[in-house]
Amino acid sequence: MGKRWACKPTAERLLAKAGAEVSALKLSGVTPHLAVVLVGENPASRVYVAHKIKTCETLGIRSTCKTLPDTCDTASLLAVIGDLNRDPEVHGILVQLPLPAGIDASAIIAAIDPDKDVDGFHPVNVGRLALVEEGPLPCTPMGLMELLSGSGHELKGKHAVVIGRSNIVGKPMAQLLLSKHCTVSILHSRTHGPETLCRQADLVVAAVGRTGMVHAGWIKPGALVVDVGMNEIATAVEADRLLPENSKKRAAFDRKGRVLYGDVFYASVLEVAELATPVPGGVGLLTIAHLMVNCVTATGRLLRK
Ligand code: NAP
Repeated sequence: MGKRWACKPTAERLLAKAGAEVSALKLSGVTPHLAVVLVGENPASRVYVAHKIKTCETLGIRSTCKTLPDTCDTASLLAVIGDLNRDPEVHGILVQLPLPAGIDASAIIAAIDPDKDVDGFHPVNVGRLALVEEGPLPCTPMGLMELLSGSGHELKGKHAVVIGRSNIVGKPMAQLLLSKHCTVSILHSRTHGPETLCRQADLVVAAVGRTGMVHAGWIKPGALVVDVGMNEIATAVEADRLLPENSKKRAAFDRKGRVLYGDVFYASVLEVAELATPVPGGVGLLTIAHLMVNCVTATGRLLRK
């Protein structure tokens, strides 16, 4: 029987590190400032932005949130980004994704000053990641690398399977693991026999967006499993499949009719894995903590420019 892989201690360590840097910057007269841009009414985006702003407040990072309506177009959003780029008091810029369908997200990301790009999505920073150079790198994969490096497990030579190839999680995660000498396989929606490939992995990172897709049959005994997925169980059929009777999560589902759930069928995977991260209370904490690190690092970098 495997164990719950707690992410909170790593997140707290990252937050303490960021907090110490905020204090040092304030002593030299500078308060790090994160500008968040939120377009439209996506309820999940609103919740994520609220968490980010609250964490900034806790650490003493100044934050401002620019909210724009769904009807906003690419040109007006580019104008907002231009203003934030030019503002010497703004050190980090984050445009909450996804953007409404009519907006050219690639143009928006490419317009952000790469040194203020705290999400690490700008093409320059994607290049820096590929070349294993310094720069702001994506928060979820970077937070996960902190979890892995703090776990005492040797990464060199491990076979890592990353399920998902998005620009924000799957691809950067695979590159970071490669830079630590893992042998990396990337699975996606057109992969044949994903279970068989996944069963060869010492480390599995699931970033798919498919509720409870990865079950025990995908996992090699003793593997490490990281669940990036943030999905919802909203039907009784799914709840009956994934939530053990008498579990706290089942009780929460019975009460609210929905619960947050990852890509990993947690109860099933724990039967064979050594460690598996939970959802919620797992990777999400690392993502926000690393965003704070990126924000204070960006502040220091801009001051040295
Ligand atoms: P995404 O852009 O939708 O990418 C999903 C990836 O999964 C794609 O590469 C897709 O393949 C692949 N995929 C879909 N179905 C598959 C299947 N049946 N077998 C194998 N691969 C399959 O999603 P994302 O932005 O990377 O996010 C993934 C999940 O992580 C979501 O649940 C999201 O909410 C969550 N997330 C969590 C955090 C956090 O902080 N915890 C941060 C970011 C994202 P194709 O490329 O072939 O379509």
